[in-house]
Amino acid sequence: MNTLEIAQERKLVTAIPGPKSQELHKKKLQEVSHGVGTMIPVYIERAHGAILIDVDGNQLIDLGSGIGVVTIGHTNQQVVDAVIEQVQKLTHSLFTVTPYVPYIQVCEILNRHTPGKFEKRSALFNSGAEAVENAVKIARKHTGRGEIAVFDHAYHGRTNLTMAMNFKAHPYNTGFGPFAPGVNHVPMSYPFRDPEGMTGEEAARRAITYMEKRVGAESLAAVVIEPIQGEGGFIVPAPGFLKTIADWAKKNGIVMVADEVQSGMARTGKWFASDWEEGFEPDLVIIAKGIAGGMPISAVTGRAEIMDASHPGGLGGTYGGNPVAAAAAVAVLSQLEAGGVFEQAERIEKILRPRLEAMKAKYPVMGDVRGRGAMQAIEFVEPGTMNPNAKAVEAVSKHAHQNGVVVLTAGTYGNVIRFLPPLAITDELLNEALDVIEAGIAAL
Ligand SMILES: *Cc1c(COP(=O)(O)O)cnc(C)c1O
Repeated sequence: MNTLEIAQERKLVTAIPGPKSQELHKKKLQEVSHGVGTMIPVYIERAHGAILIDVDGNQLIDLGSGIGVVTIGHTNQQVVDAVIEQVQKLTHSLFTVTPYVPYIQVCEILNRHTPGKFEKRSALFNSGAEAVENAVKIARKHTGRGEIAVFDHAYHGRTNLTMAMNFKAHPYNTGFGPFAPGVNHVPMSYPFRDPEGMTGEEAARRAITYMEKRVGAESLAAVVIEPIQGEGGFIVPAPGFLKTIADWAKKNGIVMVADEVQSGMARTGKWFASDWEEGFEPDLVIIAKGIAGGMPISAVTGRAEIMDASHPGGLGGTYGGNPVAAAAAVAVLSQLEAGGVFEQAERIEKILRPRLEAMKAKYPVMGDVRGRGAMQAIEFVEPGTMNPNAKAVEAVSKHAHQNGVVVLTAGTYGNVIRFLPPLAITDELLNEALDVIEAGIAAL
């Protein structure tokens, strides 16, 4: 069977997980470090569009895109073609030894589309965390300062520096320290849990006061923020929050860094979530996940004078911007440039948002519905309170998984269900998946 011919329909032929998955899971536990967890022990063999096929032949609806990675859709034809073509021409030469074209093409397109009309440069890496590390390196080199500020509920990765930047100790950090110094956590704008009526400007003042008093503006190299937080539970800061922080950072010579690893690449219906905030132009943007249809590649793009502050040889790595991954990125980026992809995020929002709002009106266990484009979430509470309800999320996601819908959880309190469907998902599949999830909520 050609992967590209997978019918876009949910089909269950065994219980989930099926017997072959269960058998493989035993082997996994035998052979793979238990530190590498498994959320859903269903082993996937192939995929296309928004359908995953497991080793037992079940067809599952994917509402997670491998955490916002295959945004363009599984086995997108142009990505598959680009990878096949590139892998037959050149798989590696190390860009910092003997360069090649796809790397430059990726940089050129990113420079064109990240927020701001100023002159830009890019550098390519392998993972989101590696790009975050490099953005911090670049900001420190440019400013000659050491401290950075990050936000409550943030997630930035699993390397030593990025662990220090995460909000949640468990499961990301516990026992893995000591952590990199120079990281300061400041309050986020969290409209659902902030005092009623708190504006974005007020929430920004709260964070700025913290940075001025606890750290000192003159000590800060960078402020790093997810314009919409991912693992934190799709927290969308109040309007004005990002711009107020960025204006203050600019005044104080601090590099404003947007971690768009989860929120970028058409996910919200624009190139970047930053584009939704009027007048917000981060100096550096961190890009990964959705950029290359599943091939590992990441980037830092930003102001030329900041990106060029590093001496030649200061940035790089063996695999960063690998030719095959770069060719896949060009295939994704060209489709965004060609048009029609952002409209898919809008189409998904138009189905997802009203249905989630209608469910919220019906089920008091749903405290908040939020997000942008094809990045939407439900925060669950104990009915009639603001108390986080992780148990409800556990039950609903279990119900979804058993019924062939792959949905992800999130949130500092583990009480968020997040929707990150591939933009290739059909209306029918999306509605069917929502029927399954609603049945799970109704059954609570
Ligand atoms: C996933 C993620 C990262 C880390 O990316 P990896 O590729 O897993 O290292 C960093 N920041 C954000 C916002 C993310 O969602």
